[in-house]
Amino acid sequence: MCATCGCEGDGVAVITVGYQDHDHPHEHGPEHEHPHEHAVTTLTLEQKVLAKNDELAAANRVRLRQRGILALNMTSSPGAGKTTLIERTIRELESVPVAVIEGDQATMLDARRIEATGCKVVQVNTGAGCHLDADMIRRALDALETVPGSLLFVENVGNLVCPALFDLGEAGKVVIVSVTEGTDKPLKYPHMFAAAELVLINKTDLLPYVDFDLGRCVDYARSVNPDVTILPVSATSGDGLAHWYDWLTSRLTAGISMS
Ligand code: MG
Repeated sequence: MCATCGCEGDGVAVITVGYQDHDHPHEHGPEHEHPHEHAVTTLTLEQKVLAKNDELAAANRVRLRQRGILALNMTSSPGAGKTTLIERTIRELESVPVAVIEGDQATMLDARRIEATGCKVVQVNTGAGCHLDADMIRRALDALETVPGSLLFVENVGNLVCPALFDLGEAGKVVIVSVTEGTDKPLKYPHMFAAAELVLINKTDLLPYVDFDLGRCVDYARSVNPDVTILPVSATSGDGLAHWYDWLTSRLTAGISMS
């Protein structure tokens, strides 16, 4: 989890301090380790980081619900086509007001792509962080003038590990996997796929050129999440996108009651 791997800024800093600040009542040489103390400290901090995040996420959820905004947490590996899918969806789903929060470690590149569609967008740069957290979303919502009844895409940092742990206050999670990746992604990253309401298998226009077994990927995703909806799409050719728009429309109609 992030307080351990180094991407959770506060957590890592405190863990390091906590490790250095532990009592030294006994004499010993400079080269020693306290693996047990370190493990306990890390576990406590992980729980605190996630508990604090869950609290902020709950507040975000109430705030979004009060404004009637349907927020979807869009997750994937880097390069699966999240931004391309969101760009095209904004252009083709004209009847629904859309806003976007873009998460990347660095650059405004994706925010500029979204801005070019005429959509409201806020970029969050996470620095060393490998995921968005609820406090980042709170601050992004402060900066974003969302229209009541709108759809909010939160494009998470490309990563299938940590985003599964950090609730943002969204109504639901969408996982995008592309056919240029391994068929076995759902088995390798089960937490993300188990948490998803919808799995989009993107870049299907490339299926003739890559070694990707669509049927097996669907079976693997269902093995970790039996009820998940799975839609093969191509955000570049447009294949299958009608089903994605139908899903979005019905999800909007259902509103935030499912969250
Ligand atoms: Mg992107």
